[in-house]
Amino acid sequence: MVSRVIPVDDFDLVIFGGTGDLARRKILPGLYRRFCAGQMPETARIIGAARSEHDTEEFRRIVREAILEFSSKHSCDEALIGDFLKRLDYVQVDARGEEGWNALKEMMREDVIKAYYFSVAPSLFGDIAERLMSHGIADDKARIVVEKPFGRDLASAKALNRDLAKHFDETQIYRIDHYLGKETVQNLMAVRFGNILFEPLWNSQYVDHIQITVAETVGVGGRGEYYDRSGAMRDMVQNHLMQLLCLIAMEPPSRFDPDAVRDEKLKVIRALEPIDHHHIVRGQYEATDTEPSYREDAGDPRSRTESFIALRCMISNWRWAGTPFFLRTGKKLKARNSEIAVVFKDAPHSIFGEEAGRHANLLSIRLQPNEGMTLKVTIKEPGPGGMRLIDVPLDMSFAEALGEDAEEITDAYERLIMDVIRGNQTLFMRGDEVEAAWAWTDPLIESWEARGDVPKPYEAYSSGPEEAAIMLHREGRRWREIKG
Ligand code: NAD
Repeated sequence: MVSRVIPVDDFDLVIFGGTGDLARRKILPGLYRRFCAGQMPETARIIGAARSEHDTEEFRRIVREAILEFSSKHSCDEALIGDFLKRLDYVQVDARGEEGWNALKEMMREDVIKAYYFSVAPSLFGDIAERLMSHGIADDKARIVVEKPFGRDLASAKALNRDLAKHFDETQIYRIDHYLGKETVQNLMAVRFGNILFEPLWNSQYVDHIQITVAETVGVGGRGEYYDRSGAMRDMVQNHLMQLLCLIAMEPPSRFDPDAVRDEKLKVIRALEPIDHHHIVRGQYEATDTEPSYREDAGDPRSRTESFIALRCMISNWRWAGTPFFLRTGKKLKARNSEIAVVFKDAPHSIFGEEAGRHANLLSIRLQPNEGMTLKVTIKEPGPGGMRLIDVPLDMSFAEALGEDAEEITDAYERLIMDVIRGNQTLFMRGDEVEAAWAWTDPLIESWEARGDVPKPYEAYSSGPEEAAIMLHREGRRWREIKG
């Protein structure tokens, strides 16, 4: 199947932090793939802007190496890379000083879309926004893209929003959450709102519970000290898992338009109930024979920061009253696996008798690995021998369904950057959404800090602390297996 590529309008994209890790691993290889797909106009330009002392030739060399290292071999073509690099420029800019800003201004063209990607520490967002305006570099149609973390609590998120709002209108601000750029996440909306099959069942009458799992096999490694200041709640739940929760739980928006979608997501966040401590399990991975424990990685033998968290969330509205949403994420778990599982209720009555067993339908939406969806349905076990029921998967793997194009869908960044150029904010977080998410998260963190809660140790490469399993067992449910 060949996907349709609609070229975007001409643009100048400035990447602040263009020599940093994120730019090299995700942003620039992603732009290269969009270039190869024919989506970038001939004259579009990408300007790396960072504090490091480089010239354009050196920057191009850095980007070339990044493409070779972080793009699949299949998409690396020397001639194409050479053509792509010709669109790249570099300017040395100090976000906190005056150096480089006039040179950047000189480079920018009139009458093209201007986008500024802030791939730098959030403490620099305000400085960059201010200098873009004071030097007359950004106009009122310019777009800015900001990376996570967007604050570490409600107060800091509000301060960041205020700093950006001094210079840019909300319609110009693209707060990126790359989970929203994943093909499966968008497919979640297509499945819910493009089919008549699911929506009538999408409520507490038919859904027993929903599980959202984002499991990683990596530990915090060299980022230990940095990670120890945030933990799984701030690093993963407040943004990625809550965004997934919103998309799965929201009411159908009237249109697929940025504010219509984001209004509905906001209502979900605002309807989340506070959680008592019996419904929160935090954990820290233990050492293995060869690898350090979380506390060793964090460089703090008394650290109380969680590398794993499981939560039971309830949404107070007509659709979801009584249906628990179980969220779970952690480092050094058994497999790299991200999944949303909608577990339906058992059929109300079995006409096949007790021996046929109890069967519940399940819709599994896989974000990684092997993006796709599976619907578990109950059928008769084939062959003679009476009416015995078994569950079989109706499986759709995007890689199989989309063939060669599947490689293109693996990275969310390129799609999101093209949305910025198109001026489509649907898959970006609005300021009030981020603040509402922190307003729900803050009291939970404050309450475990006040209680002096110590995370439960869990075996590295397991499913997390046993207490997380017990939390579900108590109510006769169990977690889906974490498997790669
Ligand atoms: P990094 O430390 O690798 O790169 C930082 C970049 O900022 C460098 O290019 C550096 O030259 C530039 N810089 C630093 N101070 C500057 C200044 N005063 N003026 C101009 N440029 C300056 O960081 P990173 O890992 O690329 O992360 C960038 C942002 O993206 C951070 O906000 C981070 O939280 C976020 N983020 C990163 C990742 C990731 O995978 N690396 C993932 C999600 C979010």
